[in-house]
Amino acid sequence: MRFIWLGLSLLIAIFILGCSSGDQHDQNLKMIQYLEPLDAVLEKPRPGEWLFEHPEQGQTFEAYKQSKPVSPDEIRRYIYLQPIGALTPIQGEVLRYTAEYLQIFFGLNTIIAEPISDSVIPARARRQSRETGEQLLTSYILYDILEKNIPPDAIVVMAVTAKDLYPSDSWNFVFGQASTKKRVGVSSIYRFTDIAMDSTTYPICLERLIKTASHEIGHMFSCQHCTHAVCVMNGTNSLPESDQRPNRLCSECHMKLCWNLGFKVPDRLLALDQFFMRHTLLQDHRAISKDCARIKQKTQ
Ligand SMILES: [Zn+2]
Ligand SMILES: [Zn+2]
Repeated sequence: MRFIWLGLSLLIAIFILGCSSGDQHDQNLKMIQYLEPLDAVLEKPRPGEWLFEHPEQGQTFEAYKQSKPVSPDEIRRYIYLQPIGALTPIQGEVLRYTAEYLQIFFGLNTIIAEPISDSVIPARARRQSRETGEQLLTSYILYDILEKNIPPDAIVVMAVTAKDLYPSDSWNFVFGQASTKKRVGVSSIYRFTDIAMDSTTYPICLERLIKTASHEIGHMFSCQHCTHAVCVMNGTNSLPESDQRPNRLCSECHMKLCWNLGFKVPDRLLALDQFFMRHTLLQDHRAISKDCARIKQKTQ
C-alpha cells in the first residue's frame, strides 16, 4: 500500500512538474508575441540583395515544428566551436567572446575545441583568388572534417577560420555555410575587418562574427532563411546588407528557437543586452534594450 501511495505521489509530482514546465514554456512563447510589434518590416529587395537574387518563401513557426528540427538532448547538448588554422591572439579573444555570446543566444554551453591545422585541407579543396588570396572549400570542412569527427556530446559544431571561404567554383566567396540536418557549419572572419584589430577596434569583427555564427547555428537547428521581418536569420549577400541588421531574432524565428531550446526569454534578452553594452555594440544594444523594456512593461 505504502508503495502504491509512493508511486501515486511520484506520478502526481511528475504531473505537476510537467504542467509547470509546460506553463513556463507557454509563458515564454507568449512573451515573444509581445515583441512582435517591434519587428522591423523587410523592405522590398533591391538588385544585389539576397532576396532579389534568391526569392525565398520563408518558413513559418508551424512549418518549423513539423520539420522535426535538430534538438539537443541529455547527451548531445553542447555547441562546439572548432578553430581551423591559426588565429592571432586578438582573433582568439574575439572567438572567446563569440562562445560567450552563443551560450547566451542559444542557452546552451559552448566549448572551444583544440584548433586543427588547415594543412588537413587538400589542394583540391583550396583555390587561389587574385583579390583575396587563398580560399578554403566549405563542403570539405563541413563533411570531410566536421561531420566525420562530431564529438558525442555535441549538438552542433561550427568551424571558425581566418581564411576566406568558397562554397563552389561558381561563387566568389561566402561568409559562412551550414547544414540544416547534419549539425555542422563554418564561418570565416576573413572579411570582417580591414583595420588592424586590437583591444579597442575588435567590436566590428565581433559584431559580424556573432551575426554569422548565430545565423549558421540557427540553420543547424533547422531554421531556414527568414522572410518574416528584419532578422539575424535573413539571407544576406554582402557586408553592407548584413551590417544594416541588428543581432536580433524576429518574433517568428525567436519562437522557433525558444520552442526548440526552451530558453527563458527575459533572462536571455537581458544577458544579450549586457553583452552588447560590454562590447559597445550599439546597434544591437538599441534593438535588444527595446525588447527588454517591452517585456518589462507587459509583465509588470
Ligand atoms: Zn543562411
Ligand atoms: Zn526571423
